[in-house]
Amino acid sequence: MSLIPDDVIEQVREAADIVGIIGEHVELRRTGADYRAPCPFHGGTHRNFAVIPRKGMFYCFVCHAGGDVFTFFMKKLGMDYPTAVREVARRAGITIPERGPSGPDPREPLYSAVAAAADWFARQLRESPEAQVARDYLTTRHLDLETVQPLGLGYAPRNKAFLDAMKGLGVRDEVLLEAGLLARREDGTLAPRFRGRLLFPIHDVRARVVGFGGRILGEGEPKYLNSPDTPIFHKGKLLYNLHVAKHAMRKAERAILVEGYFDALRLSLAGIEEVVAPLGTGLTPEQAQLVKRHAPHVILLYDSDEPGLRATFRAGDELLREGLRVSVATLPAGEDPDTLGQKKGAAGIEEILKDAVDVLERKIQILDRKGFFGTLPGRRRALDRLLPTIRAAKDPITRELYISRVAEAAGVRKDVLEREVGGQADRRTGGQVKLLSGGPPDGPTALPSSAEKALVLLMLEGEPWKSRVVDAVDPEELEFPPYRAVFESVADDAVLALDDTSARAYEQLKAEGLGRRDPNEMYELAVNWMEARRLERQLEQLDDQLPFESPERQASLIAEKRRVFDELRKRYPRYKIAKRRRGAPGT
Ligand SMILES: [Zn+2]
Repeated sequence: MSLIPDDVIEQVREAADIVGIIGEHVELRRTGADYRAPCPFHGGTHRNFAVIPRKGMFYCFVCHAGGDVFTFFMKKLGMDYPTAVREVARRAGITIPERGPSGPDPREPLYSAVAAAADWFARQLRESPEAQVARDYLTTRHLDLETVQPLGLGYAPRNKAFLDAMKGLGVRDEVLLEAGLLARREDGTLAPRFRGRLLFPIHDVRARVVGFGGRILGEGEPKYLNSPDTPIFHKGKLLYNLHVAKHAMRKAERAILVEGYFDALRLSLAGIEEVVAPLGTGLTPEQAQLVKRHAPHVILLYDSDEPGLRATFRAGDELLREGLRVSVATLPAGEDPDTLGQKKGAAGIEEILKDAVDVLERKIQILDRKGFFGTLPGRRRALDRLLPTIRAAKDPITRELYISRVAEAAGVRKDVLEREVGGQADRRTGGQVKLLSGGPPDGPTALPSSAEKALVLLMLEGEPWKSRVVDAVDPEELEFPPYRAVFESVADDAVLALDDTSARAYEQLKAEGLGRRDPNEMYELAVNWMEARRLERQLEQLDDQLPFESPERQASLIAEKRRVFDELRKRYPRYKIAKRRRGAPGT
């Protein structure tokens, strides 16, 4: 058992130079953001072994050996976990506090007590006649005993047998009280906390059982009862199934967040391992941070009814505040992940996950469906509901994309919306976002960047759109740097070389896709817009030149200006002509 506190371990992990450390054992060569080498574990000669500094992990694409910097030392040099942590800490210059040779972790008795209880509860579920009610209940949810046993499910009987059993194992009452497994009644007698319940063991990230979630069987309140907070169990800082899911989360680069234990269990049994659930409460900032340590992207898979949606968007904002990318998967009405998994299996769930949309987009969809964007007051109310999500987005690119999208959807000027997001009231409009009258959503009327975005979205659809866009537009014409970077990388088939910021934009665009938009129409509008902008630049250049030319040359430049201007009006009548600073030619 390690004596090193978890937060110190995390600190060491963060500080470790994984490339330098692994590079002492294999010859790493840079490939984009990652490093490659022949695998030191299965002894290959090809560069199938990757070190991914961004994630602090290594992975072999042939033998699937993988892990973090600690795992590398354990696997390569046969160290145990604490030794590996100390070795990495030494290299990173981090001092690990020593507790001395005779100072065991004071929480050790609690871990042991909860582990002993978990074993005993699991045996009750298998063997006790009284647990027939629990076994029958599992059958109604189409779960075999054999299937749930490896997951450690248990049964807490109604009587006091638990007290005697723990006494028989030599676990003291004070320890059981501190571990939250016993409660002291008013008359001073002790009673088991969990009675007549099906128990889900809850693990910490190091895979130790630290508490339980118990579902009532038959009549009784509450339906779910958790362990109380103890020195080893903090319900706001743990996620159900994270100890299993974390590896899959790193591999899949996503986490699926569900509401309940059964939902998590169903997905996990269906082979979708990267699933976690909060412990019966709304998602806390600490839980969002936990998710972020293991995956950059979260798909929320909650019920689609009103309370489910509220919980979805609350969790979504919490995750955005941690800088995560957040999508929402939508279940058919009346289904939860558990029932859907029973009916349609992994394929059915994957289908739903595949259709997940960005959390802001989902909010817009719902507001749109309820008719919010149809009226001016409705648009104001819609904005009020969208603003918290924009504000929650910590990642600057996500925020930029969100502002553009909401400006489009609500017909608001982007700069005004930016001010409102920044919390600065605009004096002229009394702090209200001023709504523009025209412009269909998704058209290039709102922003030049919409046209740029449309072009990049088209490129991401693959051929023939990619070639058509590359032929029509030069990357330098894109003014928004992340779009330009994505444009160039897609054109050059070099997406892996994107820096973090642009990679994020890429992922978001990829996730957004064209939706129901018509690619031909999008292409037409976007290319026209770019052409109009080109012509406008020509006009500006002509304006700059004019004062320095001879009268004859000026006359010919003015003629040229008129030609360009007519072309501009013809190409794109709604282009922002009226707003041009320099006015129409000849005036
Ligand atoms: Zn290998």
